[in-house]
Amino acid sequence: MVKPKTEEEIELLRENAIIVSKTLAEVGKRVAPGVTTLELNRVADEFIRDNGAIPSFLGYDGFPAALCMSVNDVVVHGFPSDYVLKEGDIVSVDCGTLYKGYNGDSAYTFPVGEVDAGTRKLLDVTKASLYKGIEAAVAGNRTGDIGYAVQTYVESFGFSVVRELEGHGLGKEMHEEPGVPNYGRRGKGTHLVEGMVICIEPMINAGGRGVYLARNGWAVHTADHRKSAHYELTVVVRKGRAEQLSTYDFIEKDGTINY
Ligand code: MG
Ligand code: MG
Repeated sequence: MVKPKTEEEIELLRENAIIVSKTLAEVGKRVAPGVTTLELNRVADEFIRDNGAIPSFLGYDGFPAALCMSVNDVVVHGFPSDYVLKEGDIVSVDCGTLYKGYNGDSAYTFPVGEVDAGTRKLLDVTKASLYKGIEAAVAGNRTGDIGYAVQTYVESFGFSVVRELEGHGLGKEMHEEPGVPNYGRRGKGTHLVEGMVICIEPMINAGGRGVYLARNGWAVHTADHRKSAHYELTVVVRKGRAEQLSTYDFIEKDGTINY
């Protein structure tokens, strides 16, 4: 039985979600050919601390940075590095915060300069699938309804869902129950109850769904080395319609990204 959050807890999770959302926007402003992922990590680390929070990924199971920076065929959990982003790349940026004892966790995949049409489609479909998942995250549904919504949408475009990783509950811990798979069957899985706070995070491959773990034990790559996208938002399960805690408005509504 997953315990819903109190409204007080939800407010603390909202504060985290806003910091994470703004951090992603700060990073997004600087995503461009010629920039290293390590430089972007530095921007995020500083911004998070300037806002009184702690980058929660740093040191998590030994993770070495504030951000997961996953370029092109890296699905998730890439290390920031001296890799120089180039025109046509995509970079998935996953950010976590710890603030007032609660967690924030959201992700966005940025195009680097101009990307080809197929890559643009992958980004658009993956992000849209996240919103399909959010639409299904209502009280009375189950986690399988979210997974079903994401999967059917994504597969209708010929893309594939990574199954080895999933979304999760969020609270004092970064990963809480329930697991929120991006595939599934309607009416199956954990019951969604008003006040549950979950992260929905489709990880979607342009090609096949197969992945492998890099030798560093962290970076998850696509088996066919085609690109993969990742978007993640935090929502509160409510009656009728989920309430979004994190948002892409800071990224998409102030004109810093070309859409
Ligand atoms: Mg995340
Ligand atoms: Mg997450």
